[in-house]
Amino acid sequence: MLEAPIGSISSPMPLRRERIVQLASDIRARYNPREIDYIASEHGIVLIRSAGAVGRDAGFAYIEFVRRPELIESLSHPDRPVLVWGGWRKEPLYSIVINTNSGIPEAEVFWHEWYHLFHSPLGIQRSERFEHRYSTDGALHHQEERRAEEFAAAVLVPSIEDCMTIFEICERFGVSERLADRAMKLYSSH
Ligand SMILES: [Zn+2]
Repeated sequence: MLEAPIGSISSPMPLRRERIVQLASDIRARYNPREIDYIASEHGIVLIRSAGAVGRDAGFAYIEFVRRPELIESLSHPDRPVLVWGGWRKEPLYSIVINTNSGIPEAEVFWHEWYHLFHSPLGIQRSERFEHRYSTDGALHHQEERRAEEFAAAVLVPSIEDCMTIFEICERFGVSERLADRAMKLYSSH
């Protein structure tokens, strides 16, 4: 079974900014947010690095439902579960794909996609099999993209107190200029 991720697994409503900041600080309290391989494995997320097009989509995430045979514990042999004939269970399989050629730090892509997997209404709510593109067109996605970026910024940039410029934020936290800009807007709007 997949351990429930930090926070709710899917939100019927878009997350508010305060909630995004709260979720991000919960994650930082538990993990070093740069240890994405460890975090992915802790949460049963398949993390794939793939050399895609240069400067194009930084990553995407998807959920597939896999059918597993249903197993029950055997009373006589607790170590050997017993297959229930004809019994199937549907389990979600979460994947995050990172384009190693995008020029965007991996952790940044990871948390952006994490947001979509577990918090975007467009994710779990809408269909069983969805594929999300990092840079997507359309006004519908626009708000959700902004939230995913805010979330990634909040996870990777805990504070901008001592930073005077966007460049300093990039330097200190190893994020792209775009995310540093997002962090600055996020914290200065508080
Ligand atoms: Zn996105």
